[in-house]
Amino acid sequence: MEHDIAHFFHSLGSEYDSFREFDINTQFITYRLLEPLLYQLKAYKSITYEIKGYSVQNTPITLIRMGTGPIKIFLWSQMHGDESTGTASLMDLFSFFTKYSGFAEVKSEILHSCTLYIMPLVNPDGAEKWTRENALNIDLNRDRIRLNSPESRVLFNTFHEIKPDFGFNLHDQNPLYSVGATPNQAFFSFLAPPEISQPVELSRHREAAMLLISQMAALLHTLIPGHIGRYSDEIEIRAFGDYFQSCNTATVLIESGACKEDFQKQYIRKLHTQTILSALLAISRKSYEKHTIEEYASIPENQKFLYDLVLRNIHIQVSQSHKIIIDIGINNTYVPSAEKSLSNNHAIIENIADLTGLYGLYDYDFEGYRALPMSNEFLTSITAFYLEKKNNYPIYNLSTETLAVSGEFYHHIADLISAVNYPVIFKQGDSANLILHSNFEQFFLVLNGILIKLIPE
Ligand SMILES: [Zn+2]
Repeated sequence: MEHDIAHFFHSLGSEYDSFREFDINTQFITYRLLEPLLYQLKAYKSITYEIKGYSVQNTPITLIRMGTGPIKIFLWSQMHGDESTGTASLMDLFSFFTKYSGFAEVKSEILHSCTLYIMPLVNPDGAEKWTRENALNIDLNRDRIRLNSPESRVLFNTFHEIKPDFGFNLHDQNPLYSVGATPNQAFFSFLAPPEISQPVELSRHREAAMLLISQMAALLHTLIPGHIGRYSDEIEIRAFGDYFQSCNTATVLIESGACKEDFQKQYIRKLHTQTILSALLAISRKSYEKHTIEEYASIPENQKFLYDLVLRNIHIQVSQSHKIIIDIGINNTYVPSAEKSLSNNHAIIENIADLTGLYGLYDYDFEGYRALPMSNEFLTSITAFYLEKKNNYPIYNLSTETLAVSGEFYHHIADLISAVNYPVIFKQGDSANLILHSNFEQFFLVLNGILIKLIPE
């Protein structure tokens, strides 16, 4: 049995391109993108489509029901508008169960053991403007008690109508969580949220959530060892997960993280889809019962030991004759939108310090290099130059790239460097634009967080 689920998990990976929802290709997921996909589901007799309510801006919040089994599973996603990986996976799940013909026996087993209640995109208004909060600037996951938002009321009421045995609370976490004190990015973090009543004894349903997480983590471990973390289990009584756990629903929080070269999170989404579908089979077969609380407890807790880009051992000239050595930690905020542009990224200097013991996803030693800020004039001209070279299509990650520039351009930079005023000072929170040079011979630019090596044309 156990072997079968592992086999299913890996086969889903190799078959993924045959069943994934092809109309979703980026992180930017709004109701407009989902609507036609959800409408298609109405064509299936075995599927129930129901609008459970509306957002502040009157966008429908839909519940899809499929399956006839006795175990009730409720999955909901994107209650934070800018956390869309779960929604993409739920669309994959629909495509898997409807458009794709493979794994017929497994599908039948799941749908005869379980009834799935699926609510994708709980916060459509937040998704539209790509914010965590809804149109009233309310964080739905801190609105469980007051239920100020219509979206919170929809989630709350739907949960109580269903009274699910299992709940999957699908979120995305800060991409810069590390797994324990390691440089490893947490691709996923799990949590069986604590119950609000804090019972002395572990309840059966929270235990079931922990065991199910142990099984999901074990499956993922075969593909991404060292990249699975556990969320802190401090009680948050205003959150839905902690509350649902207290209502006798085995509740699992899945936080999708990021993987540095997977800017649109499509690899993370694939792993997430494999994990969710395998978890449904694990619930159908109760195979998670073979796992242990110890396995759950041994998943390392998340830490924040990471920056997007770390530049180490940079010399800063505080006067003509005096220099200091610093490390610079740069973080990038990526704001997906329908339009691709350089302004999707906003990179800032997050820390200027000795960053020993901390890590960059991209981490470079600049021993022997001096750094200086860019003037606004220079920044404007170099940005225009860079975009022209890149055909207005900037890269979306922070790895090093090269840019061929003319001799004249080098002279321009050299002039800029000689004209610099001392002391050279960088401030935390400054935009991440700077010039690095070694003896006026080797030059790098950091342009909105992108590290660019200049080479002669
Ligand atoms: Zn969230």
